[in-house]
Amino acid sequence: MASGTQVVVTGASGLIAKYTIAEFLRRGHDVRGTLRSLAKADAVRSAVSLLGADPGNLSFAVADLSNDAGWDEAIGGAAVVVHTASPFPVEQPRDPQEVIAPARDGTLRILRAATKAGVARVVMTSSAVAIFYPTGRPKGHVYSEEDFTDETRSDLTPYFKSKAIAETAAWDFTESTPGAPQLVVINPGFVQGPAVDADLSTSHELYRIMAKGTYPAAPSISFPVTDVRDVAAAHVEAAFRPGIEGNRYLVGEGQLSLFALGRILARELPDLASKVPKFELPDFAVRIAAVFDRKLQTVLPELGETKRYTNSKVKAGLGLTLHGADEAATAAVRSLRDLRLI
Ligand code: NDP
Repeated sequence: MASGTQVVVTGASGLIAKYTIAEFLRRGHDVRGTLRSLAKADAVRSAVSLLGADPGNLSFAVADLSNDAGWDEAIGGAAVVVHTASPFPVEQPRDPQEVIAPARDGTLRILRAATKAGVARVVMTSSAVAIFYPTGRPKGHVYSEEDFTDETRSDLTPYFKSKAIAETAAWDFTESTPGAPQLVVINPGFVQGPAVDADLSTSHELYRIMAKGTYPAAPSISFPVTDVRDVAAAHVEAAFRPGIEGNRYLVGEGQLSLFALGRILARELPDLASKVPKFELPDFAVRIAAVFDRKLQTVLPELGETKRYTNSKVKAGLGLTLHGADEAATAAVRSLRDLRLI
């Protein structure tokens, strides 16, 4: 699509959004970012400048996923909406609806406003967690975009459920609503790559937690790793490529265990070597500890199996070359030290 297209990016203060906004601006598009409060606008402008984009064509609108107010104004006049905003708490809430309701209802608010505004395409940031937890897959199954998480599984955390439920709601809406925009979904793994400022994503907060020596041992879990630069490129490609509507794209390259992330932290920053996990915990110990430590509940569905997956669709379909897992994690650690956050 020609430059100068009006794009709306929801959740402009998020890590993925900042990189995505910068990529749209570099390619000559106009971006309106949504924020819960304009207090973060200057920080977003600074972040996109640091990422090599001119924030001159970046504007902001205020809207909250939990509220109808502001979405029509935020989305009016846009050709494309990239919907990244979703609650991503470090600690799982006691009431799952605290994350599920804004994720699902906010997605529907955005799709309704986009339909009213005649938006051509919505690109939604879902997650690999909306793929990796179906029921009935045999051990050794190779996960792909064909797999949909079963949101009724009792072992899912509220965050995992929120991503699966919001994505399903988006597909249901676009399939059943006349005049709805086209939908393309991006499903990133655990997002690494360089942090850009101190307003860290939960996936970067992990290193701050490790660097404090909070966890002398790590649960035995692995996850697909995704570089934020690749996530941004995927969103921008998905915004404009013709003929890809109705597709979802799993974006990840390789896997890393939590223990391996700690080893990378120690390798890159030897002064923190004494703080990182020294060994992997047996699964039963993690299940018991999670009763007392709510942060650990996030990892429970990961115990017991390293999942295999394919990333061939995103490489072929969106023409991307992806950063490797070690490279992405190393960039994350180095950026956090450069920012003096660890
Ligand atoms: P961040 O925490 O950096 O960004 C989350 C964004 O969502 C922030 O802009 C936040 O706004 C916004 N948000 C949260 N709740 C609301 C709400 N009620 N109303 C409006 N905005 C809200 O995380 P990421 O950039 O990493 O995440 C962006 C997206 O990517 C999310 O959808 C997340 O689920 C998804 N994702 C992330 C992965 C990762 O490992 N980081 C992996 C896979 C998917 P505010 O600044 O006001 O809090």
